[in-house]
Amino acid sequence: MAASEGVLAGGASPDGVEDGAPVLIIGAGAAGLRTAIELARSGVDCLVVGKRRHGDAHTRWAAGGVNAVLGTLDPDDRWDIHAADTIREGGYICDPRSVELLARESPARVMELADWGCPFDRTAEGRINQRYFGAQSFRRTCFVGDVTGQAMLDSLVDKARELHIPFREDIFITRVLVRSGSVGGALGLDLESGAPLHFPASSVVLAAGGCTSLYRRSSSRDDENTGDAVALAYDAGTALRDMEMIQFHPTGMTAPEEMRGRLVTEAVRGEGGRLFNVRGERFMERHAPDQMELAARDVVARAIWQELRAGRGTEGGGVLLDISHQDPDMVRERLPSIHGRFLDQGIDITSEPMEVAPTAHYPMGGVVVDADTGATSVAGLYAVGEAAAGVHGANRLGGNSLAETLVFGRRVAADIVRDLETDGPDGRLSPDPADWERHVTRVDATRTARGEHDPEDLMARLRGIMWEHGGIVRSGDGLRAGLAELEVLTRHARDLDVAGSRAGPHALARALTLPFALLAAEAILRSALLRDESRGAHYREDHPEGHPEDRTAAGTARLVNIVCRRGRDGGMRLSTSPVPPIPPVIQQALAEHHALDYHHLE
Ligand SMILES: Cc1cc2nc3c(=O)[nH]c(=O)nc-3n(C[C@H](O)[C@H](O)[C@H](O)COP(=O)(O)OP(=O)(O)OC[C@H]3O[C@@H](n4cnc5c(N)ncnc54)[C@H](O)[C@@H]3O)c2cc1C
Repeated sequence: MAASEGVLAGGASPDGVEDGAPVLIIGAGAAGLRTAIELARSGVDCLVVGKRRHGDAHTRWAAGGVNAVLGTLDPDDRWDIHAADTIREGGYICDPRSVELLARESPARVMELADWGCPFDRTAEGRINQRYFGAQSFRRTCFVGDVTGQAMLDSLVDKARELHIPFREDIFITRVLVRSGSVGGALGLDLESGAPLHFPASSVVLAAGGCTSLYRRSSSRDDENTGDAVALAYDAGTALRDMEMIQFHPTGMTAPEEMRGRLVTEAVRGEGGRLFNVRGERFMERHAPDQMELAARDVVARAIWQELRAGRGTEGGGVLLDISHQDPDMVRERLPSIHGRFLDQGIDITSEPMEVAPTAHYPMGGVVVDADTGATSVAGLYAVGEAAAGVHGANRLGGNSLAETLVFGRRVAADIVRDLETDGPDGRLSPDPADWERHVTRVDATRTARGEHDPEDLMARLRGIMWEHGGIVRSGDGLRAGLAELEVLTRHARDLDVAGSRAGPHALARALTLPFALLAAEAILRSALLRDESRGAHYREDHPEGHPEDRTAAGTARLVNIVCRRGRDGGMRLSTSPVPPIPPVIQQALAEHHALDYHHLE
């Protein structure tokens, strides 16, 4: 189906109040659509909204695959080993119940998606094929070439269409409405017309993705992953967890400008690609002499960062990834999309190196949810997918995030159905005129603002601050400096020039995104400051101890999750909570020490 066809359009009345569906789903990636499909199958009406065209969510970019213990090629694989791999890679601060549910239920969710038409690669016997992925003990990653996310999203869009699930394109939600501790809907605007909108709903699902676009280099797109989900949740009065945990992928593109940060798949290194600094030194010899370029992502990313900091990078701020010593036919055959993408830039990777640098790739933290239901502490408010915390701890296992969207999308829907059966469908639908008036005034005032600071410039500065101070290598001083710079930015964000912005037609959306981005950035920096250890993707050069696998030594005392929420005085309050105990069956699998030193794809 063409992305722009949509499903069914919802409609707004002249005062901007949308037709009320009992459930509003903010986000049309895999998580939002899987939730909507389950609701529709249970006979519950919902409305899905997204910032872009239907079928064009960030999920589309996922490449390598989705994890599920099917045992197609490795019959010894088990759900508890999948859980153990996830917890080990997650630095032992994953929520064990979330991990258990993910590992137990992802096989059924993947099989179901295959039944709905997702064209997973098959073995000669017709079973779903599986490939290796980094830090996993067995081949358990199901895939559709290197376009798994696109294939999954297309299948989900088709299913949603078959079930006549209403969808609104180009909608930007700016606030979740909460009254007396319960959700009452959301406010937003139509990005095409700028018209303010009010979506009454008795349940709201935040499936609005992550926050890696807050970094100067990210594998996402500028208008996605700007922290909307976590900010909407925080403003609604619920808590965030482990926001400091940001996964940096070692190899993103450095040029051209519009491709900066786009992922250069790990498969290049898997096929023999070598990393060199500008002096021609194969620097991984110094950083990981055994595993070299195939060391873990955080290790390679830090190695590249150190080369750049020592002035051994290229003028474009990268290092060189070279696969030109390999057979050109093999390179063209095994790496077709990377070969094509660089050829478009005039670089033939069969004869010359690529320039690469680390890129922000995935936030492990997010909204605090109940593992079984996806419910937050605000009645009727849920979070799912990249928006939610729990599964990934301090570092994500590649292939687990797509699995998470399917497993927990279905679970969230099941809980909403139960809730509606108990409370009745129309309990909290009536719009509040005062909320609406404030919203219209805010949108109008923002659109016409003629202050000093262009929101586009402020966002660029924010991305620079996060890259410099909240990036791959952090320190207490750097984080404090970053927070001070954020404070200045926050003041400037109160004096915006939207009407004259160089963002043109996108200026209003940029301006309304800024408070989300500032909030998410503050949560990342404050949480990173509080976590005075190095664990998983979070590396403090002033506290380099506490290796993720060191559960019994330095790490034990610090096995905590960091939680932040708004305090009574309006400021951000941080606290720690102990990680729940790991169930004995997963502890047993951890003790078996399954491991595969093979870092592949994604
Ligand atoms: C290059 C790349 C490769 C990847 N490869 C893999 C892989 O191989 N395997 C794997 O498991 N994971 C992979 N990931 C991660 C994975 O793609 C994501 O974690 C997952 O797709 C997230 O799905 P989601 O539905 O939670 O969010 P998204 O797909 O990000 O969808 C978010 C939705 O929310 C909407 N939205 C956001 N804010 C608002 C707002 N304020 N108002 C209204 N709508 C809003 C957006 O428009 C969008 O529709 C990869 C990621 C990248 C960047």
